[in-house]
Amino acid sequence: MSDAAAIAADVVVIGAGPTGLACAIDAQNAGFNTLLVDKGCLCNSLFHYPSNMTFFTTPELLEIGNIPFSSPNQKPNRQEALEYYRKVTQHFRLKLHQYQHVDRVEGKAGGFIVHCTDAAGRPYQYTARALIIATGYYDRANYLNIPGEDLPKVFHYYQDPHPYFDQDVLVIGGKNSAAISALDLWRHGARVTLVHRGAAMHKHVKYWILPDIENRIAHDEIHAHFETVVEEIMIDSVRLRTPDGPVTLKNDFVFAMTGYHPDFSFLEALGIRLAGKDRTPEFDPHTLESNVPGIYLAGVVVAGARTNEIFIENGRFHGAQIAAGLRQKLRATAKSF
Ligand SMILES: Cc1cc2nc3c(=O)[nH]c(=O)nc-3n(C[C@H](O)[C@H](O)[C@H](O)COP(=O)(O)OP(=O)(O)OC[C@H]3O[C@@H](n4cnc5c(N)ncnc54)[C@H](O)[C@@H]3O)c2cc1C
Repeated sequence: MSDAAAIAADVVVIGAGPTGLACAIDAQNAGFNTLLVDKGCLCNSLFHYPSNMTFFTTPELLEIGNIPFSSPNQKPNRQEALEYYRKVTQHFRLKLHQYQHVDRVEGKAGGFIVHCTDAAGRPYQYTARALIIATGYYDRANYLNIPGEDLPKVFHYYQDPHPYFDQDVLVIGGKNSAAISALDLWRHGARVTLVHRGAAMHKHVKYWILPDIENRIAHDEIHAHFETVVEEIMIDSVRLRTPDGPVTLKNDFVFAMTGYHPDFSFLEALGIRLAGKDRTPEFDPHTLESNVPGIYLAGVVVAGARTNEIFIENGRFHGAQIAAGLRQKLRATAKSF
């Protein structure tokens, strides 16, 4: 499709994660011609989560569109969740365009033009009367900004333990992702050191994971340095600043599990105002419409940098709020908002 052949929709949802899907279902059920666009595959973030991950959440809390998520497990795994969201997408016959990155948006409420490109650099355009931004946070890692962070042995995402068997691996962080990756690496034969700037593992580590990591640390099966920061990553070693002074450790790989943040530049380019140190977007708490008329926010993007406040569990309800707002606006302005 070329620039000339823009596809028209009432609502374009940017981001086809669980939140974007929930929004598309609600908008479609409210009678709007709705199109989802994602730069990757369906549920691209979930697809890139650790291969063997288990959700923290029971299946019913991951449900969207009132479609039951049946699983024999108390907490479903990544494969089951991907299967569920594929089935839901098919069930509602959602219009989904994958592998198209939304680069920019022009126009205003009632007449937006969404500009995308695919991996080959080909342009695509969609027109929409309203936009829902459900772009999540998993694409943007929080960097440490230390020397050596750009070495190829340093990762901000953890997927599979196998390549790290019999290797010296440093895990940076003190929350769930750091605990889970350190345990998984250790259980698959890596020599693991965990470094965290806090005095202990973070209070948000899930109650069933915490004793596991604490016991591995107590038995020195996973070596831990608390109140410690990594100062430099070198090809074969890392330099730490510990309460007892500098320590240099032999090292093959580093996993910096230091969190992620929404694409603030993208939000600002849309005209959305961000406030405070958490860069919280400005929006109406009832309709989730941002300060830019016709642009709605959904999922974890509403919380700015406080990404531990919105999950699939609660973000999945944003679609209903937005659909209600859209309906109200359409009624009030006779289809020309
Ligand atoms: C390891 C891990 C485990 C978790 N476990 C749980 C759990 O058990 N329960 C729970 O409720 N939550 C859990 N979460 C949090 C939860 O997964 C996220 O909060 C959730 O994915 C957010 O959903 P979303 O749809 O808002 O964003 P995402 O799932 O991140 O979807 C955003 C989508 O937008 C797309 N996108 C971004 N920018 C663009 C662009 N410019 N153009 C086009 N597409 C774009 C991305 O490709 C992506 O597909 C977990 C998170 C992690 C990292």
